Amino acid sequence: MYGLAMVKGLMVTLKNLTRKPFTVQYPEERLTQHPRFRGEEFVWYEERCTGCASCAKYCPLGIIKIVTSPSETAIDQGDKYRLEVFDIELQRCMFCGLCVEACPYDALFMGSGFEQGKYSRKGMFISIDQLRQSEKHPSTFFRPQLESTGYNPHKNRPLDWKEVGRESWNWHRQEKMGMRLASGPDLDNGSAEELEPAGTSSSDGSNGASS
Ligand code: SF4
Ligand code: SF4
Repeated sequence: MYGLAMVKGLMVTLKNLTRKPFTVQYPEERLTQHPRFRGEEFVWYEERCTGCASCAKYCPLGIIKIVTSPSETAIDQGDKYRLEVFDIELQRCMFCGLCVEACPYDALFMGSGFEQGKYSRKGMFISIDQLRQSEKHPSTFFRPQLESTGYNPHKNRPLDWKEVGRESWNWHRQEKMGMRLASGPDLDNGSAEELEPAGTSSSDGSNGASS
């Protein structure tokens, strides 16, 4: 019938006229992100990273650049590497998370932020220094050990490298023996059992929500 399509269209307009909007006025209002959200950031734990470059090999776009050199601090072991370059070309990243899935040592995590927009393409890469200095709020994407503790990167405190692995960090005691770690374990006195479960409480004994 002539004009039927127009009536149908108007009905859709009328139906949505009274409906509450599901959009929000960002940045004043923000939606709650899921803990497994894959943001436009990465969280990297140098203390856990062996420089194996599995992440770079698995990246389908080849946008992770890793350069290593033999570590002078662990010559006896003969298989330790110092990370010199760990750059991620963010502008080409599709946040598929394959690099995170490929990391055998739980050293690389997806990040949870999404506000790293830049005005120039030149700034669209993450350097090793940025990875070292960034606050560690790892996404729980592909990390069931974090998810099982109820960790929420958007609400809880940053996590230390000793708290994020599948295995006890004691496993790394021998692995990292002789390495010069900036914030590594106290190899003489520390023990994994002294750690509180990730995301459930902070070092001062309060709930893990960051201030
Ligand atoms: S998230 Fe995907 S595209 Fe981005 S660096 Fe990792 S593997 Fe490459
Ligand atoms: S982040 Fe993981 S996969 Fe990448 S080099 Fe380090 S240990 Fe290997």
